[in-house]
Amino acid sequence: MNKLYDTNNIFAKILRSEIPCNKILENHHALAFSDINPQAPIHILIIPKSPYINFYDFTKNASINEMKDFWNLVNEVIEFVKINRDGFRIITNSGSDGNQDVPHFHVHVLGGKNLGRM
Ligand code: 5GP
Repeated sequence: MNKLYDTNNIFAKILRSEIPCNKILENHHALAFSDINPQAPIHILIIPKSPYINFYDFTKNASINEMKDFWNLVNEVIEFVKINRDGFRIITNSGSDGNQDVPHFHVHVLGGKNLGRM
């Protein structure tokens, strides 16, 4: 266990089934569910099932299989909600400068309309 990982963060509670989520898809190492406060018609979060704090922690410390399952699930979600043709945006916030609210690594997949320029 990473010493700095907060086991009481909201996504850890979702993974322990202590609070519900609207699950979209999952595999052995990753879970995808709807964001509770969607910023686009499609707004899905994908998280690894193991305790990684952010992108840096995940990419530095996750196994090849965890990374493979994670990114495969991102792509399966994109296909499942049919945004592979019209496009989408993937965002990951990290740390205080990135304004990360939940300290469990996640990517946001946004789509379903033209999202404008960043
Ligand atoms: P961050 O700012 O950490 O990148 O994004 C955290 C995201 O988690 C936000 O978009 C927020 O709406 C979402 N979120 C926060 N609490 C919950 C929750 O209890 N359930 C779900 N499904 N999403 C949540």
